[in-house]
Amino acid sequence: MTNTLPTADLITRFTEIVGSRNALTDEADIAPYLIESRGLYKGNAPLVLKPGSVEEVSQILKLATETGAAIVPQGGNTGHVAGQIPRTGAADIVLSLERLNRIRDIDPVGNVIVADAGCILADIQKAAEEHDRLFPLSLGSEGSCRIGGNLSTNAGGTAVLAYGNMRQLCLGLEVVLPTGEIWDGLRRLKKDNTGYDLRDLFIGAEGTLGVITGAVLKLFPQPRGHQVAFAGLKSVADALTLFDKASSLCGPALTGFELMPRLGVEFTAKHIPGVRDPMDTVHAWYALIDISTSDSAESAERMMQTLLETEISSGLVENAVVAANEAQRKSLWHMRESMSPAQKPEGGSIKHDVSVPVSSIPAFMAEADAAVMKAIPGARICSFGHMGDGNIHYNISQPIGADKDQFIGRWREMNAIVHGIVLAYNGSISAEHGIGQLKRDELADVRSPIEIDLMQRIKHAFDPAGIMNPGKVLKAS
Ligand code: FAD
Repeated sequence: MTNTLPTADLITRFTEIVGSRNALTDEADIAPYLIESRGLYKGNAPLVLKPGSVEEVSQILKLATETGAAIVPQGGNTGHVAGQIPRTGAADIVLSLERLNRIRDIDPVGNVIVADAGCILADIQKAAEEHDRLFPLSLGSEGSCRIGGNLSTNAGGTAVLAYGNMRQLCLGLEVVLPTGEIWDGLRRLKKDNTGYDLRDLFIGAEGTLGVITGAVLKLFPQPRGHQVAFAGLKSVADALTLFDKASSLCGPALTGFELMPRLGVEFTAKHIPGVRDPMDTVHAWYALIDISTSDSAESAERMMQTLLETEISSGLVENAVVAANEAQRKSLWHMRESMSPAQKPEGGSIKHDVSVPVSSIPAFMAEADAAVMKAIPGARICSFGHMGDGNIHYNISQPIGADKDQFIGRWREMNAIVHGIVLAYNGSISAEHGIGQLKRDELADVRSPIEIDLMQRIKHAFDPAGIMNPGKVLKAS
């Protein structure tokens, strides 16, 4: 279905819904909504709408369905697969949720927070903290990404190991459907087996089925004990063994287990202000171990001490430092979260967000490294990530002195190589970032014809006029 190009008259009708101050048409005002952080995708849009209420979102979608105008929902514009970016050469309308940013309710006893979809993730974390509660979703982009975007990408982040990803952190949703109807599914129930799970269809749908306007999110008790350590290791295989030991010792108290290569530590120390290598010894690989306990501060300390003392004596861990206070804990996490930005000053980088079964990580990485180095001798592989979740950000920086554009021009070729190996290990080509535009054409390689057909039928049932984020996840029909 082809979407209508918005005429001047239609732009006026959309503008009347939100008021002229909240309808951007000036090229300079619109520009930041058209490009994503990596600069890989730049789209076109004649109009950016910033509704201030659920009712306004409803009127916008109703008019879009009546006229066939395409709508692209956008939260914080931090997505890594360009789902939030309007298509190049089309005339999609961007619907920004930024003005829907009210926390509606917090119930610490029921352990829930109810919020507008445009709330910034860090604001939700802060609101929870003020009530001595924890909202555990934590991402490098938490200062700018928004809850609706987190839900629509089923975001993961650094604490999935203990708390799950966004799907596990959401109890209820409010969604405006493409027809303009409002589905109030803001339930606060942990148990509710009443038919098909509509909530979980919208989570991870990347804005292709409707616009999320509100959510009920789960809260948890604030941990009383928190320990973060940085351990130097010989190999990825040793990191896996250490993960196994840490899981057995700590159980659910193991909140994060992140893997980093020496190259990543060097890049962050060189390019990220305030980051330095915390150890005076050099290691091929590093693990960041995060332990949180709810009973006491001492139990986290005891677990970390036992783990490191045992594994340094056994020779598994070559050296380790334990953060002595909150500032040092944050600083170790900052190093880990800066791995990707630190690659930027090193020239072009080709990125992959993949997952494989945890126990296959060493074999997958060895095979991928060999294939990449054969294709691009001198490539600098900087693969890191949420090892405990089997999720590796398999990133490749250009060889020193190589031409950046030529290197980036090999993005698809390198994707095919790395993703081929991921699939051989029964992994996923998108562990936490989604499909969007970037991976849309690969979806048919990783999902069976029956799955693609079911997805298309679901899309058609929710959005028969094809106005919701067309061309994202699935090809526009
Ligand atoms: P956007 O980028 O604006 O949108 C993302 C998708 O959701 C688009 O398809 C958009 O159309 C849709 N959408 C947005 N809002 C709505 C809505 N209200 N209703 C319907 N559809 C909507 N991701 C991880 O999972 N884990 C990480 O650890 C992680 N680390 C990151 C670190 C950095 C430095 C950066 C820049 C990004 C990182 N990301 C990570 C990716 C990104 O932050 C997440 O995908 C995030 O959830 C996107 O939220 P957003 O508000 O920016 O959404």
